[in-house]
Amino acid sequence: MKRKLLSILVMAATAHAGAQVTNAMIGADATTPNDVLSWGMGTQGQRYSPLSDINPKTISRLVPVWSMSFGGEKQRGQESQPLVHNGKMFVTASYSRIFALDAKTGAKLWKYEHRLPEGIMPCCDVVNRGAALYDNLVIFGTLDAQLVALDQTTGKVVWREKIDDYSAGYSYTAAPLIAEGLLITGLSGGEFGVVGRVEARDPKTGKMVWSRPVVEGHMGFLNGKENGITGTTNASWPGETWKTGGATPWLGGTYDAKTGLAYFGTGNPGPWNSHVRKGDNLYSASTVAIDVKTGKIVWSYQSTPNDAWDYDGVNEFITFDMDGKRMGAKADRNGFFYVNDATTGKLVNAFPFVKKVTWASSIDLKTGRPNFVAENRPGDPNAPGNDDAAKGKSVFSAPGFLGGKNQMPMAYSPTTGLFYVPTNEWGMDIWNEPITYKKGAAFLGAGFTIKPLFEDHIGSLRAIDPKTGKVAWEVKNEAPLWGGVMTTADLVFWGTPEGFLKAADAKTGKVVWQFQTGSGVVAPPITWKEGKDQYISVVSGWGGAVPLWGGEVAKKVNLLEQGGSVWTFKLTK
Ligand code: CA
Ligand code: CA
Repeated sequence: MKRKLLSILVMAATAHAGAQVTNAMIGADATTPNDVLSWGMGTQGQRYSPLSDINPKTISRLVPVWSMSFGGEKQRGQESQPLVHNGKMFVTASYSRIFALDAKTGAKLWKYEHRLPEGIMPCCDVVNRGAALYDNLVIFGTLDAQLVALDQTTGKVVWREKIDDYSAGYSYTAAPLIAEGLLITGLSGGEFGVVGRVEARDPKTGKMVWSRPVVEGHMGFLNGKENGITGTTNASWPGETWKTGGATPWLGGTYDAKTGLAYFGTGNPGPWNSHVRKGDNLYSASTVAIDVKTGKIVWSYQSTPNDAWDYDGVNEFITFDMDGKRMGAKADRNGFFYVNDATTGKLVNAFPFVKKVTWASSIDLKTGRPNFVAENRPGDPNAPGNDDAAKGKSVFSAPGFLGGKNQMPMAYSPTTGLFYVPTNEWGMDIWNEPITYKKGAAFLGAGFTIKPLFEDHIGSLRAIDPKTGKVAWEVKNEAPLWGGVMTTADLVFWGTPEGFLKAADAKTGKVVWQFQTGSGVVAPPITWKEGKDQYISVVSGWGGAVPLWGGEVAKKVNLLEQGGSVWTFKLTK
């Protein structure tokens, strides 16, 4: 009797400990396949699982277990990656909603709908990309630029903090990052002349620990005290231009405990018209590596200096081992794939990962700088000889501003040594116009039309060798790919706007399975194991930037239907 009681007590204590998400659990997330605690399935963002129950031999038995609708009249783009912990799934949805579900059955446990004010200004649909877990909390950001922490069990709000003023164009759509016991976030609003920054808070209370602007000239803070200006004022931004410099790290970041650095990609400099801000415009369109303990920039690498094409460099920087060294890889919106030393930032390799790149001919591996093609920069409306002061010379640029890759995260497999990159082939006509900053108004100074490059496809999932730049295999897709990728030892999973969740053999690219989810997939799949079963989940719901900004491409995809649901799969017997 006594022994039984003791064992019950031990079990209760263990269950309780399992309910609290600790820093150690988040640090180990990539190697614990029984849960998914972070965006990226591990803070390095590899989106790799060692699970192999579902493999090319068994996948014909992969069937849906449950589907749950987000409901409501408002649907739009669903770009969220679910989290799974303690038998519960936490998944965010459009219009700043979050749901807690029973991970095995899909039964709804609670939902929270954030009350959004009139006048929010998300540039690229009312999306959200996911939540973060810490202790007993689930934390996510909202379109009116707030962070909300809820109790995982009850869904009750524990704390709420304002990031910034939504009426100035600030918003939040990324999944927050937890690293070394800190809640680390960027922000959105780069099309409105806001100032990008990365911030670290106490995840239990929301209290600010440090903030680090990513535009030179702005002051950082640590524990309420000044912590040094970012860069050197006016070194790469003329006059007052740095005050409305954009560079928003809107996709969120990754973290590697080996380097102690959080990696955030930064967006376009403001405005799009590059002629009014001559200079490199640091640290826009860059990877910025921040010491999470001090809130200082340790290194930065700028992929598009003096960007003129809206080539936000926000894409995820995924760390991995190559030749015995810790590296990081990024497939940039500008069409080039970069490999940098994760500790020093030194450029190790760079090559195009799409077929047509017009703005630069190559990347100089010695200097790390692009070799610009000067005549392919949109012309200055005030250039001598330009007879129309309202419009500079129009040029055709590839990739188009929606990028060789956009928000959809790639995956890396340590088994195959390949990156699985969701790519798009498109270009744009782009021209510059005069522009002055006005709070809360679009700050572009540019006009544009996105155009496809090929008749049969825009999207292509490519397996890329980071050492050689060679494409091991590709699977083309008619519509632009906008969901992310997940890989296991044997398989690669990704979704399409046409509604399919697909799986291919990780080594050969042979498509071995697909399932129609009922709406377009623009979100990354996950996998985990509970009990004897390996599960796959993905969110379905067409939307995002393409239907809003896609020009001629948007017309091509206007047949696709909206939705909003989570699908979960496992093997039948
Ligand atoms: Ca895990
Ligand atoms: Ca942008």
